[in-house]
Amino acid sequence: MLTHYFSDPVMLDLIQHTPAFPYLDCLSAELVATGYKPTTIQRYLRAAAHVSYWQNRRERSLTELDSVCIEEFKRHLPGCQCKEFRRVNDYDVRGARKFLQYLQQTAVVAAEHRPDPVGTQPPLFVEFCDWMRQHQGTRQTTLETYRRTAKRPAGQATEVFLNARGTAMTRSGFEYILEKHVRTAAQDCPSLSTKSISPHCLRHSCAMMILQSTGDIRKVALWLGHASTQTTEMYLRADTMTLLEVMNTTPPPTLRKGHFRPPDQLIALLRAE
Ligand SMILES: [Zn+2]
Repeated sequence: MLTHYFSDPVMLDLIQHTPAFPYLDCLSAELVATGYKPTTIQRYLRAAAHVSYWQNRRERSLTELDSVCIEEFKRHLPGCQCKEFRRVNDYDVRGARKFLQYLQQTAVVAAEHRPDPVGTQPPLFVEFCDWMRQHQGTRQTTLETYRRTAKRPAGQATEVFLNARGTAMTRSGFEYILEKHVRTAAQDCPSLSTKSISPHCLRHSCAMMILQSTGDIRKVALWLGHASTQTTEMYLRADTMTLLEVMNTTPPPTLRKGHFRPPDQLIALLRAE
């Protein structure tokens, strides 16, 4: 693949001895798929090899590459003495950035976490990210996408589900999207296609999941917005196993064995009536 972009054997040999070499085939394929012209791809590949060569020369590994390194690389360029790479141009920095981006996407290099200024991230979102990292192994890049989606510019609708225009999603809009996802899910779970799944089912699923994970009917009531737990108790009837678990966690009242003996005063009172 590289010979397609580099005909000079000296340059080709130099590139093949840089730490970037194992990634260049995939990088070029990605650049082709994105629609870059061959001349641009050639310059980007050269830049990727250059930045990795420079990083290696200063005894830093490729996995340590980050945006700070790219800034340092930018300062290195005017006085660059890196063999065949020394004829530098604008593409060196752009290509180096592109390469870093590629390494982050493929998790060769850890994605950089650029936190918002302190206090701008809602505590609930911070907790959500911690939980997703710990329990689902969610990567930082994915969480960044969530953050961008979750962040609402001032004045925008506050509803949880928004449509493409950024306004509150209608009930039928929600049903339409749910239907689409049910169809996809039915490919793995065919029994879903015989069931009628409405947005209200999600409410029930949410209730059951909270009940199963917390065993606390009061929490379910809180989530569903029920004024009294009596309405919520139907979920206990739906899942007898959970019912048993809830009962087991409730301490039994302390009772003494024996017969009830009414005190003399009570007997006297009853007789007087
Ligand atoms: Zn250089």
